[in-house]
Formats: sequence, C-alpha cells, structure tokens
Amino acid sequence: MKTSTRSSSVSTKAHSPKLGPGEYRPEGIFLRPEDLPRPKRLHERRATPSQPCPTCGRPASKHRTYRRSLYDFGDLRSGRPCILELTYSQHYCRACQKYFNQDLSDVTAPKSLYTRRVQDLAVRLVVEDGLPYRSASWHLWRDHRVFVPFATLQNWVEAGGKKGHGAHGH
Ligand SMILES: [Zn+2]
Repeated sequence: MKTSTRSSSVSTKAHSPKLGPGEYRPEGIFLRPEDLPRPKRLHERRATPSQPCPTCGRPASKHRTYRRSLYDFGDLRSGRPCILELTYSQHYCRACQKYFNQDLSDVTAPKSLYTRRVQDLAVRLVVEDGLPYRSASWHLWRDHRVFVPFATLQNWVEAGGKKGHGAHGH
C-alpha cells in the first residue's frame, strides 16, 4: 500500500502536464570524442587453440592472443557508446614456418577502429539516403550512439568509390 502511493507520486512529478508525445527535446552536439559519455565495454573472445593455416591448410596451434578495441553501436537505454573488446589469436604453422592472425574480416576491416556493421551503415546513410557527411555523423551518434567523425566517414565513402552512384547518380 505504502509502496504504490510512493511510486504514483514519483511518476506524477516526472511528467509535466504540458509535454505531449511530439515534444522536441534537443541534445547537445558532441564535437570531440573525449566529451562523450563513458563507453560500455563488451568482450568477445574469438581466440581458438587451433586454426587451419591459410597457406597449407594444416592445423596450426595458437602462439599468443591479441586484443582489438572497436567502436560498435552504442546502448540506447543508457545513452552510452559501446566498445567491443575483441580477443583473437595468432597462430604458428610449423610446416610453413609462418605466423598468421585469426581471420576477423566478418567483424572489422584491417586496422579499422570500428566494427564492420558500423562502417556499413555509415556508408549506406551517405550512399543510399544521400545524407551529407556531417548529418550522417550526427545521425550515427543520435540514433545509434556511435561517434564517427565526419572526416572518417568521408574517407570510408571515398575509399569505397560509391558516392554519386546512388540517388544522385550522374
Ligand atoms: Zn602452413
């Protein structure tokens, strides 16, 4: 009885009677990554004891593990960005006497700081929806909680050579 009285008074306080469902509530624009809320870290372990050698196909045992930190889509409930901590393995093939890293191409591009799904969506916002780089960058933060500087976005699209082949085709 006591509990229900308290919770109903809290909910009355939280809602101002003037606010309708379409109320516009702007949010500050972040200009620097260091101003963003503290990221959540999610861990994914990819390392395996053995992998087939890409050259000869023989099983190659794990030599050591490495970790990469990748910006992924953030968490909309808390409003925080997310970093995927990906652990992967390096292997040594005795037959070829070569080291090789585990294939991560389904998750991220080589040397990228972002997951492939973030990169794919970012490029689509520009190529399919025709958004300018700054708008696409803002969309990614506002709706997906991932900060991609517009210059980075521009590099991705230009590297893919796709701008102008979508709705704006010449
Ligand atoms: Zn080999």
